Amino acid sequence: MNVLLFGPPGSGKGTQAKDLAERLGVPHVATGDIFRKNLREGTELGTLAKSYMDRGALVPDSLTCDLVADRLLQPDAAGGVLFDGFPRSVPQAEWLVNWFETHGRVIDAVVSLAVPDAAIVERISGRRTCTKCGATYHAVHNPPPAAGCSTCGSTEVVQRKDDSEAVVQSRLDVYARETAPVLGVLRGAATVHDLDGTGDISVVKARIFAALAL
Ligand code: ADP
Ligand code: ADP
Ligand code: ZN
Repeated sequence: MNVLLFGPPGSGKGTQAKDLAERLGVPHVATGDIFRKNLREGTELGTLAKSYMDRGALVPDSLTCDLVADRLLQPDAAGGVLFDGFPRSVPQAEWLVNWFETHGRVIDAVVSLAVPDAAIVERISGRRTCTKCGATYHAVHNPPPAAGCSTCGSTEVVQRKDDSEAVVQSRLDVYARETAPVLGVLRGAATVHDLDGTGDISVVKARIFAALAL
């Protein structure tokens, strides 16, 4: 099954993706996580992506789509993937729809999470991220265990550089200008479930599972 998690930065895509990917039995493909992994490993792609990520801009489409094409051709993605944070621009969405058509695959569902701007700013400013595995927490709503990351045990659970207040506003602007129009493209290609992304993490999870009849 190929499912796409869509929504503004901080809407809870990464948080929901973990259980959802497990339930669907497909890998969680988050382009932001892939860029950050490259950055940690000091690859050329990581260095290039950093210059965009640090100011909240989108990494260029060609680079991002090449990366996704590689990921989709890995053996574990043969049965489907759960996308998180991709596509993020109209050209990326058109590229994806075309890639799926060409490769005889279908987008089974899109889950779109709506969260008001004020709640997003609160969520992002409290977000804490594990530098080792990328797991996310929230200083208030979902605090990281004192012993370290509950997924990998690392004690480096920090605030991402682009989660600073200065960068969040430009990310929201980029979302409104470049990413929100993606939904129009996706509505023409797949079933879109428009869901309320507010409320407790467990409540949002239940909404997503119900929408997908899981
Ligand atoms: P968030 O979860 O807060 O939305 P992400 O981890 O998805 O953040 O993305 C962080 C940054 O990585 C983005 O601000 C952007 O610079 C880059 N990025 C991630 N996915 C894409 C994409 N599909 N296209 C272009 N840039 C991307
Ligand atoms: P995205 O991947 O869409 O950028 P995240 O899943 O990283 O968003 O969530 C952003 C922040 O908000 C994280 O700190 C996360 O712990 C927190 N969060 C996620 N879902 C909820 C929720 N339903 N209520 C409150 N906080 C949430
Ligand atoms: Zn971790």
